[in-house]
Amino acid sequence: MPRHAIVIGAGLAGCSAAERLAARGWTIDLIDAARAPGQGASGNRAGVLRPLPSVDDNRLARLTRAAFAYARQHCAQLSAAGLPLRWGQTGVLHLARDERHAETQRRVIERQQPAADELRFVDREEAARLAGWPVAIGGWWFPRGGWVDPASLCRANLARCAAVVRAHYGCQVAHIERRGEIWHACNRSGQALATAPVLILANASAARRFAPASHLPLRAARGQVSHLPAIQGSAPEIVVCRLGYVTPAIDGVRCAGATFAVDDDESALRAADHAENLAKLDAILPGYGRQIDPASLGGRVGFRPLSPDRLPMIGALADAAAIAPDRPRRPLAELPRLPGLYLINGFGARGIVWSALAGELLACLITGAPLPLPDDLVGAVDPARFLLRKRFERRPGKPPTLVAP
Ligand SMILES: Cc1cc2nc3c(=O)[nH]c(=O)nc-3n(C[C@H](O)[C@H](O)[C@H](O)COP(=O)(O)OP(=O)(O)OC[C@H]3O[C@@H](n4cnc5c(N)ncnc54)[C@H](O)[C@@H]3O)c2cc1C
Repeated sequence: MPRHAIVIGAGLAGCSAAERLAARGWTIDLIDAARAPGQGASGNRAGVLRPLPSVDDNRLARLTRAAFAYARQHCAQLSAAGLPLRWGQTGVLHLARDERHAETQRRVIERQQPAADELRFVDREEAARLAGWPVAIGGWWFPRGGWVDPASLCRANLARCAAVVRAHYGCQVAHIERRGEIWHACNRSGQALATAPVLILANASAARRFAPASHLPLRAARGQVSHLPAIQGSAPEIVVCRLGYVTPAIDGVRCAGATFAVDDDESALRAADHAENLAKLDAILPGYGRQIDPASLGGRVGFRPLSPDRLPMIGALADAAAIAPDRPRRPLAELPRLPGLYLINGFGARGIVWSALAGELLACLITGAPLPLPDDLVGAVDPARFLLRKRFERRPGKPPTLVAP
Protein backbone atom coordinates (compact mmCIF):
# COMPACT_ATOMS: atom_id res chain seq x y z
CA MET A 1 0.00 0.00 0.00
CA PRO A 2 1.39 3.46 -0.87
CA ARG A 3 2.33 5.37 2.28
CA HIS A 4 0.03 8.27 1.51
CA ALA A 5 -2.69 9.82 3.68
CA ILE A 6 -5.21 12.63 3.48
CA VAL A 7 -5.56 14.63 6.69
CA ILE A 8 -8.66 16.83 7.00
CA GLY A 9 -8.00 19.63 9.52
CA ALA A 10 -4.80 21.61 10.09
CA GLY A 11 -5.19 22.23 13.81
CA LEU A 12 -3.14 20.62 16.58
CA ALA A 13 -4.64 17.20 15.81
CA GLY A 14 -4.09 17.18 12.04
CA CYS A 15 -0.64 18.80 12.08
CA SER A 16 0.59 16.36 14.72
CA ALA A 17 -0.74 13.33 12.80
CA ALA A 18 0.82 14.66 9.58
CA GLU A 19 4.19 15.25 11.22
CA ARG A 20 4.32 11.83 12.90
CA LEU A 21 3.39 9.98 9.69
CA ALA A 22 5.81 12.09 7.63
CA ALA A 23 8.56 11.09 10.07
CA ARG A 24 7.86 7.49 8.95
CA GLY A 25 8.22 8.28 5.27
CA TRP A 26 4.57 9.03 4.43
CA THR A 27 3.36 11.77 2.10
CA ILE A 28 0.39 13.81 3.21
CA ASP A 29 -2.38 15.82 1.59
CA LEU A 30 -3.45 18.24 4.34
CA ILE A 31 -6.77 20.00 3.73
CA ASP A 32 -8.25 22.86 5.74
CA ALA A 33 -11.10 25.26 5.08
CA ALA A 34 -9.04 28.06 6.67
CA ARG A 35 -6.27 29.97 4.90
CA ALA A 36 -3.52 28.77 7.27
CA PRO A 37 -2.88 26.12 9.94
CA GLY A 38 -4.05 26.67 13.52
CA GLN A 39 -7.03 28.91 12.84
CA GLY A 40 -9.72 26.93 14.72
CA ALA A 41 -9.58 25.93 18.39
CA SER A 42 -5.81 25.80 17.95
CA GLY A 43 -5.55 29.52 17.24
CA ASN A 44 -5.34 31.00 20.73
CA ARG A 45 -2.29 33.09 21.57
CA ALA A 46 -1.31 30.69 24.37
CA GLY A 47 -2.61 27.77 26.39
CA VAL A 48 -1.41 25.81 29.38
CA LEU A 49 0.92 22.79 29.26
CA ARG A 50 0.82 20.72 32.44
CA PRO A 51 -0.36 17.31 33.68
CA LEU A 52 -3.56 16.63 35.62
CA PRO A 53 -2.95 14.30 38.59
CA SER A 54 -5.76 12.58 40.50
CA VAL A 55 -5.82 10.72 43.82
CA ASP A 56 -6.75 7.43 42.12
CA ASP A 57 -4.34 8.04 39.22
CA ASN A 58 -7.21 7.39 36.82
CA ARG A 59 -6.99 6.96 33.05
CA LEU A 60 -7.29 10.68 32.35
CA ALA A 61 -4.45 11.40 34.80
CA ARG A 62 -2.22 8.64 33.37
CA LEU A 63 -2.86 9.64 29.78
CA THR A 64 -2.21 13.28 30.55
CA ARG A 65 1.00 12.50 32.47
CA ALA A 66 2.33 10.46 29.54
CA ALA A 67 1.22 13.11 27.05
CA PHE A 68 2.78 15.94 29.06
CA ALA A 69 6.17 14.21 29.13
CA TYR A 70 5.92 13.46 25.40
CA ALA A 71 4.80 17.02 24.56
CA ARG A 72 7.71 18.60 26.47
CA GLN A 73 10.18 16.38 24.67
CA HIS A 74 8.53 17.06 21.31
CA CYS A 75 8.51 20.83 21.88
CA ALA A 76 12.15 20.75 22.99
CA GLN A 77 13.07 18.90 19.78
CA LEU A 78 11.19 21.39 17.59
CA SER A 79 12.91 24.30 19.35
CA ALA A 80 16.34 22.64 19.10
CA ALA A 81 15.77 22.21 15.35
CA GLY A 82 15.19 25.97 15.06
CA LEU A 83 11.53 25.52 14.08
CA PRO A 84 9.10 28.38 14.77
CA LEU A 85 7.55 27.07 18.01
CA ARG A 86 6.71 29.66 20.65
CA TRP A 87 6.53 28.33 24.20
CA GLY A 88 7.72 29.17 27.67
CA GLN A 89 8.79 26.67 30.33
CA THR A 90 7.87 29.04 33.12
CA GLY A 91 6.27 26.55 35.51
CA VAL A 92 2.56 26.29 36.28
CA LEU A 93 1.04 27.07 39.67
CA HIS A 94 -2.32 25.33 40.14
CA LEU A 95 -3.92 26.94 43.20
CA ALA A 96 -6.46 24.87 45.16
CA ARG A 97 -10.13 25.82 44.87
CA ASP A 98 -10.59 25.65 48.67
CA GLU A 99 -9.12 23.96 51.75
CA ARG A 100 -10.72 20.62 50.88
CA HIS A 101 -9.17 20.69 47.43
CA ALA A 102 -5.80 21.67 48.95
CA GLU A 103 -6.06 18.56 51.15
CA THR A 104 -6.71 16.44 48.04
CA GLN A 105 -3.72 18.01 46.29
CA ARG A 106 -1.51 17.14 49.28
CA ARG A 107 -2.87 13.58 49.34
CA VAL A 108 -1.95 13.10 45.67
CA ILE A 109 1.63 14.02 46.49
CA GLU A 110 1.77 11.77 49.58
CA ARG A 111 0.44 8.81 47.58
CA GLN A 112 2.32 9.25 44.33
CA GLN A 113 5.58 10.74 45.60
CA PRO A 114 6.43 12.61 42.39
CA ALA A 115 9.95 14.01 42.00
CA ALA A 116 10.09 17.54 43.44
CA ASP A 117 11.11 18.97 40.07
CA GLU A 118 7.90 17.51 38.59
CA LEU A 119 5.33 18.41 41.21
CA ARG A 120 5.18 19.61 44.78
CA PHE A 121 2.66 21.31 47.04
CA VAL A 122 3.49 24.90 47.98
CA ASP A 123 1.84 26.79 50.81
CA ARG A 124 0.19 30.17 50.35
CA GLU A 125 3.34 32.19 51.07
CA GLU A 126 5.48 30.26 48.63
CA ALA A 127 2.68 30.36 46.02
CA ALA A 128 2.53 34.15 46.37
CA ARG A 129 6.31 34.38 45.95
CA LEU A 130 6.15 32.25 42.79
CA ALA A 131 3.27 34.30 41.38
CA GLY A 132 4.75 37.64 42.42
CA TRP A 133 1.29 38.54 43.73
CA PRO A 134 -0.69 37.78 46.91
CA VAL A 135 -2.85 34.64 46.59
CA ALA A 136 -5.63 33.20 48.76
CA ILE A 137 -4.37 29.63 49.10
CA GLY A 138 -1.51 27.27 48.22
CA GLY A 139 -1.53 24.59 45.55
CA TRP A 140 0.37 22.38 43.15
CA TRP A 141 3.58 23.69 41.59
CA PHE A 142 4.59 22.07 38.30
CA PRO A 143 8.11 23.46 37.69
CA ARG A 144 8.28 21.88 34.20
CA GLY A 145 4.91 23.16 33.01
CA GLY A 146 4.43 26.27 30.96
CA TRP A 147 2.58 27.84 28.06
CA VAL A 148 2.49 27.06 24.33
CA ASP A 149 1.30 29.14 21.38
CA PRO A 150 -0.76 26.36 19.71
CA ALA A 151 -0.79 27.80 16.17
CA SER A 152 3.00 28.04 16.33
CA LEU A 153 3.08 24.36 17.33
CA CYS A 154 0.98 23.56 14.22
CA ARG A 155 3.36 25.60 12.03
CA ALA A 156 6.47 24.06 13.60
CA ASN A 157 5.11 20.53 13.08
CA LEU A 158 4.42 21.29 9.43
CA ALA A 159 7.76 23.03 8.91
CA ARG A 160 9.47 19.86 10.12
CA CYS A 161 7.88 17.82 7.32
CA ALA A 162 7.34 20.52 4.67
CA ALA A 163 8.93 18.44 1.89
CA VAL A 164 6.25 15.72 2.05
CA VAL A 165 3.12 17.66 2.99
CA ARG A 166 0.96 19.13 0.24
CA ALA A 167 -1.27 21.71 1.92
CA HIS A 168 -4.68 22.63 0.51
CA TYR A 169 -5.82 25.68 2.46
CA GLY A 170 -9.11 27.44 1.82
CA CYS A 171 -10.65 24.10 0.80
CA GLN A 172 -13.79 22.82 2.50
CA VAL A 173 -14.34 19.06 2.32
CA ALA A 174 -18.07 18.46 1.79
CA HIS A 175 -18.07 14.67 1.80
CA ILE A 176 -15.78 11.65 1.90
CA GLU A 177 -16.19 8.32 0.15
CA ARG A 178 -14.20 5.17 -0.54
CA ARG A 179 -14.05 3.99 -4.15
CA GLY A 180 -12.27 0.68 -4.46
CA GLU A 181 -9.30 0.88 -2.11
CA ILE A 182 -9.04 4.67 -2.25
CA TRP A 183 -10.59 7.39 -0.09
CA HIS A 184 -11.75 10.57 -1.81
CA ALA A 185 -12.12 13.90 -0.02
CA CYS A 186 -14.51 15.90 -2.20
CA ASN A 187 -15.67 19.51 -2.34
CA ARG A 188 -19.26 20.66 -2.70
CA SER A 189 -19.20 20.12 -6.47
CA GLY A 190 -18.16 16.49 -5.95
CA GLN A 191 -14.60 17.08 -7.19
CA ALA A 192 -11.89 15.17 -5.35
CA LEU A 193 -9.57 17.57 -3.52
CA ALA A 194 -7.29 14.64 -2.74
CA THR A 195 -7.30 10.85 -2.89
CA ALA A 196 -5.32 8.33 -0.84
CA PRO A 197 -5.67 4.86 0.72
CA VAL A 198 -5.72 6.38 4.22
CA LEU A 199 -7.96 9.25 5.38
CA ILE A 200 -7.64 10.91 8.78
CA LEU A 201 -10.45 13.02 10.23
CA ALA A 202 -8.82 15.77 12.30
CA ASN A 203 -11.51 18.35 11.73
CA ALA A 204 -12.79 18.66 15.30
CA SER A 205 -16.55 18.45 15.89
CA ALA A 206 -17.24 18.97 12.14
CA ALA A 207 -16.13 15.35 11.61
CA ARG A 208 -19.68 14.30 12.48
CA ARG A 209 -20.92 15.88 9.26
CA PHE A 210 -19.31 13.04 7.30
CA ALA A 211 -21.62 10.01 7.14
CA PRO A 212 -19.09 7.38 8.42
CA ALA A 213 -18.45 9.50 11.53
CA SER A 214 -22.01 10.66 12.17
CA HIS A 215 -22.43 8.23 15.10
CA LEU A 216 -19.63 9.86 17.12
CA PRO A 217 -20.78 11.71 20.25
CA LEU A 218 -18.68 14.78 19.43
CA ARG A 219 -19.83 18.24 20.54
CA ALA A 220 -18.33 21.70 20.49
CA ALA A 221 -17.63 23.74 23.62
CA ARG A 222 -17.28 27.47 23.03
CA GLY A 223 -14.44 29.11 24.93
CA GLN A 224 -13.62 32.82 25.10
CA VAL A 225 -10.19 34.02 26.21
CA SER A 226 -9.60 37.63 27.31
CA HIS A 227 -6.46 39.49 26.26
CA LEU A 228 -5.14 41.78 28.99
CA PRO A 229 -2.59 44.46 28.13
CA ALA A 230 0.58 43.64 30.10
CA ILE A 231 4.07 45.01 30.47
CA GLN A 232 6.69 42.46 29.49
CA GLY A 233 8.39 41.04 32.61
CA SER A 234 5.61 42.10 35.00
CA ALA A 235 4.15 39.59 37.49
CA PRO A 236 3.06 36.90 37.13
CA GLU A 237 5.87 35.51 34.99
CA ILE A 238 4.49 32.00 35.40
CA VAL A 239 1.14 30.43 34.47
CA VAL A 240 -1.29 30.53 37.39
CA CYS A 241 -4.52 28.46 37.42
CA ARG A 242 -7.53 28.28 39.72
CA LEU A 243 -10.80 27.40 37.94
CA GLY A 244 -9.28 29.36 35.08
CA TYR A 245 -5.80 30.48 34.09
CA VAL A 246 -3.65 33.50 33.43
CA THR A 247 -0.44 33.41 31.39
CA PRO A 248 2.70 35.52 31.59
CA ALA A 249 2.85 38.55 29.29
CA ILE A 250 3.52 37.37 25.73
CA ASP A 251 4.17 40.18 23.22
CA GLY A 252 2.55 42.65 25.62
CA VAL A 253 -0.60 40.57 26.13
CA ARG A 254 -1.59 38.28 28.99
CA CYS A 255 -4.25 35.62 28.25
CA ALA A 256 -6.90 35.04 30.90
CA GLY A 257 -9.64 32.51 30.55
CA ALA A 258 -11.51 30.72 29.64
CA THR A 259 -15.26 30.37 29.44
CA PHE A 260 -16.80 26.98 28.65
CA ALA A 261 -20.25 26.64 27.02
CA VAL A 262 -21.40 23.50 25.21
CA ASP A 263 -23.38 23.85 21.96
CA ASP A 264 -23.09 27.64 21.94
CA ASP A 265 -22.10 28.71 18.42
CA GLU A 266 -21.72 32.48 18.93
CA SER A 267 -18.39 33.35 17.34
CA ALA A 268 -18.32 37.04 18.36
CA LEU A 269 -16.69 38.19 21.61
CA ARG A 270 -19.08 38.89 24.49
CA ALA A 271 -18.56 41.49 27.23
CA ALA A 272 -20.28 39.15 29.71
CA ASP A 273 -17.66 36.48 29.00
CA HIS A 274 -14.84 38.99 29.57
CA ALA A 275 -16.50 39.80 32.91
CA GLU A 276 -16.58 36.06 33.73
CA ASN A 277 -12.87 35.77 32.88
CA LEU A 278 -12.07 38.79 35.06
CA ALA A 279 -14.00 37.19 37.95
CA LYS A 280 -11.90 34.02 37.49
CA LEU A 281 -8.78 36.18 37.40
CA ASP A 282 -9.82 37.74 40.72
CA ALA A 283 -10.04 34.25 42.25
CA ILE A 284 -6.54 33.50 40.94
CA LEU A 285 -4.82 36.81 41.74
CA PRO A 286 -7.08 38.84 44.04
CA GLY A 287 -7.42 42.46 42.92
CA TYR A 288 -5.33 41.98 39.77
CA GLY A 289 -8.11 42.80 37.31
CA ARG A 290 -9.98 45.33 39.45
CA GLN A 291 -9.11 48.34 37.28
CA ILE A 292 -9.82 46.56 34.00
CA ASP A 293 -13.00 47.44 32.12
CA PRO A 294 -14.35 44.27 30.42
CA ALA A 295 -15.69 46.42 27.56
CA SER A 296 -12.11 47.52 26.74
CA LEU A 297 -10.75 44.01 26.27
CA GLY A 298 -9.87 42.08 23.15
CA GLY A 299 -9.87 38.32 23.05
CA ARG A 300 -10.59 35.26 20.99
CA VAL A 301 -13.35 32.67 20.69
CA GLY A 302 -12.64 29.01 19.89
CA PHE A 303 -14.65 25.79 19.84
CA ARG A 304 -13.18 22.80 21.67
CA PRO A 305 -14.05 19.38 20.20
CA LEU A 306 -15.55 17.56 23.16
CA SER A 307 -16.12 13.88 23.86
CA PRO A 308 -18.60 12.83 26.59
CA ASP A 309 -16.05 10.98 28.74
CA ARG A 310 -13.48 13.79 28.39
CA LEU A 311 -10.98 11.40 26.78
CA PRO A 312 -9.77 11.93 23.20
CA MET A 313 -10.74 9.75 20.22
CA ILE A 314 -7.68 8.30 18.47
CA GLY A 315 -7.71 5.33 16.13
CA ALA A 316 -9.57 3.47 13.40
CA LEU A 317 -13.19 4.41 12.86
CA ALA A 318 -15.69 1.60 13.49
CA ASP A 319 -18.16 0.55 10.83
CA ALA A 320 -21.22 1.64 12.82
CA ALA A 321 -23.65 0.34 10.19
CA ALA A 322 -22.22 -3.18 10.56
CA ILE A 323 -22.62 -3.26 14.34
CA ALA A 324 -25.86 -4.65 15.79
CA PRO A 325 -28.06 -1.95 17.35
CA ASP A 326 -28.06 -3.75 20.74
CA ARG A 327 -24.35 -2.91 20.95
CA PRO A 328 -22.44 -6.09 21.74
CA ARG A 329 -20.06 -6.50 24.65
CA ARG A 330 -17.46 -7.83 22.24
CA PRO A 331 -13.88 -6.74 22.81
CA LEU A 332 -13.10 -3.45 21.09
CA ALA A 333 -10.52 -5.14 18.88
CA GLU A 334 -13.24 -7.33 17.32
CA LEU A 335 -15.50 -4.49 16.22
CA PRO A 336 -15.56 -4.07 12.44
CA ARG A 337 -13.63 -1.04 11.17
CA LEU A 338 -13.83 1.02 8.01
CA PRO A 339 -10.62 0.23 6.09
CA GLY A 340 -8.19 3.13 5.96
CA LEU A 341 -10.40 5.61 7.89
CA TYR A 342 -8.98 7.10 11.11
CA LEU A 343 -9.85 9.74 13.66
CA ILE A 344 -7.79 12.07 15.87
CA ASN A 345 -10.26 14.20 17.73
CA GLY A 346 -12.11 14.98 20.96
CA PHE A 347 -9.19 16.89 22.51
CA GLY A 348 -11.56 19.13 24.51
CA ALA A 349 -9.58 21.50 26.72
CA ARG A 350 -6.34 19.48 26.50
CA GLY A 351 -5.22 19.58 22.88
CA ILE A 352 -1.96 21.37 23.66
CA VAL A 353 -1.04 18.67 26.17
CA TRP A 354 -2.34 15.66 24.21
CA SER A 355 -1.71 16.38 20.52
CA ALA A 356 1.92 15.25 20.17
CA LEU A 357 1.38 11.86 21.84
CA ALA A 358 -1.97 11.47 20.07
CA GLY A 359 -0.28 11.98 16.69
CA GLU A 360 2.40 9.44 17.61
CA LEU A 361 -0.21 6.91 18.77
CA LEU A 362 -2.22 7.32 15.57
CA ALA A 363 0.88 6.95 13.38
CA CYS A 364 1.78 3.73 15.26
CA LEU A 365 -1.76 2.36 14.88
CA ILE A 366 -1.72 3.09 11.14
CA THR A 367 1.73 1.66 10.49
CA GLY A 368 1.60 -1.25 12.94
CA ALA A 369 4.52 0.03 15.02
CA PRO A 370 4.74 -0.68 18.80
CA LEU A 371 2.30 1.57 20.64
CA PRO A 372 3.50 4.33 22.97
CA LEU A 373 0.74 3.66 25.56
CA PRO A 374 -0.40 0.58 27.53
CA ASP A 375 -3.35 -1.40 26.12
CA ASP A 376 -5.91 -0.09 28.60
CA LEU A 377 -5.19 3.53 27.60
CA VAL A 378 -5.23 2.65 23.90
CA GLY A 379 -8.69 1.12 24.48
CA ALA A 380 -9.76 4.14 26.53
CA VAL A 381 -9.16 6.47 23.57
CA ASP A 382 -10.42 4.11 20.84
CA PRO A 383 -13.18 5.95 18.91
CA ALA A 384 -15.13 2.67 18.70
CA ARG A 385 -15.67 2.61 22.48
CA PHE A 386 -18.94 4.47 22.12
CA LEU A 387 -20.38 1.65 19.98
CA LEU A 388 -19.26 -1.19 22.21
CA ARG A 389 -22.35 -1.21 24.39
CA LYS A 390 -24.84 1.11 25.96
CA ARG A 391 -22.58 3.82 27.32
CA PHE A 392 -24.96 5.60 29.61
CA GLU A 393 -26.59 3.72 32.46
CA ARG A 394 -28.96 5.27 34.95
CA ARG A 395 -28.51 4.29 38.57
CA PRO A 396 -31.53 4.82 40.85
CA GLY A 397 -31.60 8.39 42.13
CA LYS A 398 -28.50 9.41 40.17
CA PRO A 399 -28.05 11.23 36.88
CA PRO A 400 -26.86 9.12 33.91
CA THR A 401 -23.22 8.16 34.27
CA LEU A 402 -20.66 7.01 31.76
CA VAL A 403 -19.82 3.33 31.77
CA ALA A 404 -16.20 2.61 31.03
CA PRO A 405 -15.50 0.04 28.32
C1 LIG B 1 -10.60 28.90 24.83
C2 LIG B 1 -9.76 27.68 24.74
C3 LIG B 1 -8.74 27.50 25.68
C4 LIG B 1 -7.94 26.35 25.62
N1 LIG B 1 -6.93 26.20 26.53
C5 LIG B 1 -6.16 25.08 26.47
C6 LIG B 1 -5.11 24.89 27.39
O1 LIG B 1 -4.86 25.75 28.24
N2 LIG B 1 -4.37 23.74 27.32
C7 LIG B 1 -4.64 22.76 26.38
O2 LIG B 1 -3.98 21.73 26.38
N3 LIG B 1 -5.63 22.93 25.49
C8 LIG B 1 -6.40 24.06 25.53
N4 LIG B 1 -7.43 24.21 24.64
C9 LIG B 1 -7.77 23.09 23.79
C10 LIG B 1 -7.05 23.01 22.47
O3 LIG B 1 -6.83 24.28 21.94
C11 LIG B 1 -7.92 22.14 21.55
O4 LIG B 1 -8.11 20.88 22.14
C12 LIG B 1 -7.24 21.93 20.19
O5 LIG B 1 -6.93 23.16 19.62
C13 LIG B 1 -8.13 21.14 19.25
O6 LIG B 1 -7.40 20.93 18.08
P1 LIG B 1 -8.05 20.27 16.79
O7 LIG B 1 -7.00 20.19 15.78
O8 LIG B 1 -8.78 19.04 17.19
O9 LIG B 1 -9.19 21.31 16.35
P2 LIG B 1 -9.06 22.71 15.50
O10 LIG B 1 -7.87 23.46 15.92
O11 LIG B 1 -10.37 23.35 15.65
O12 LIG B 1 -8.81 22.20 14.03
C14 LIG B 1 -9.83 21.66 13.22
C15 LIG B 1 -9.61 22.19 11.82
O13 LIG B 1 -10.48 21.51 10.93
C16 LIG B 1 -10.86 22.41 9.91
N5 LIG B 1 -12.08 21.88 9.30
C17 LIG B 1 -13.24 21.55 9.90
N6 LIG B 1 -14.11 21.03 9.01
C18 LIG B 1 -13.48 21.03 7.82
C19 LIG B 1 -13.86 20.61 6.51
N7 LIG B 1 -15.05 20.04 6.27
N8 LIG B 1 -12.99 20.77 5.49
C20 LIG B 1 -11.75 21.32 5.72
N9 LIG B 1 -11.34 21.73 6.94
C21 LIG B 1 -12.20 21.58 7.98
C22 LIG B 1 -11.05 23.73 10.63
O14 LIG B 1 -10.92 24.82 9.74
C23 LIG B 1 -9.94 23.68 11.67
O15 LIG B 1 -8.77 24.35 11.26
C24 LIG B 1 -8.20 25.38 24.64
C25 LIG B 1 -9.19 25.59 23.69
C26 LIG B 1 -9.97 26.73 23.73
C27 LIG B 1 -11.04 26.95 22.67
